[in-house]
Amino acid sequence: MRCPYCQHRDSRVLDTTHEQRGVVRRRRQCETCGQRFTTIERPLLATPLVVKKDGTREEFDREKVLRGVRIACAKRPVPASAIERMIGEIESQLQRQGRSEISSRVIGDLVVQGLKELDHVAYIRYGIVYLGLDDLQAIRNEIDRLLNDEENSNDGKKG
Ligand SMILES: [Zn+2]
Repeated sequence: MRCPYCQHRDSRVLDTTHEQRGVVRRRRQCETCGQRFTTIERPLLATPLVVKKDGTREEFDREKVLRGVRIACAKRPVPASAIERMIGEIESQLQRQGRSEISSRVIGDLVVQGLKELDHVAYIRYGIVYLGLDDLQAIRNEIDRLLNDEENSNDGKKG
């Protein structure tokens, strides 16, 4: 790693920090000019860039998605491990698609699908925020649909 100040080729590693998701941060000191700088190494997973509604792009932020899901699942009987697994599946699904960019809406839809299977109340909570179920009628329609689905699947089990 070249020194960014004098372009000298060799630097001494002062310390190494291993962070989340394979990120390695190294504090270095140039052997020639003595300036200190930090380098970051991270595995280049093919997680696509997220295109937000306003057209701006940002990196896929697992923690951010996780936070939203945790809030939706607050006080619900959903194990943390199930949430982790769901986020992990979404992430690997995004990587498998091998695209360079993906709409935030697609991620929202994946989360909504996942929550629908995990817990209906959490699903509705998430949906109110992310699907823009912003009036009582829309929320009610969604709940009616869920109740219908439940009834149908219960009937299926009985029959
Ligand atoms: Zn230097």
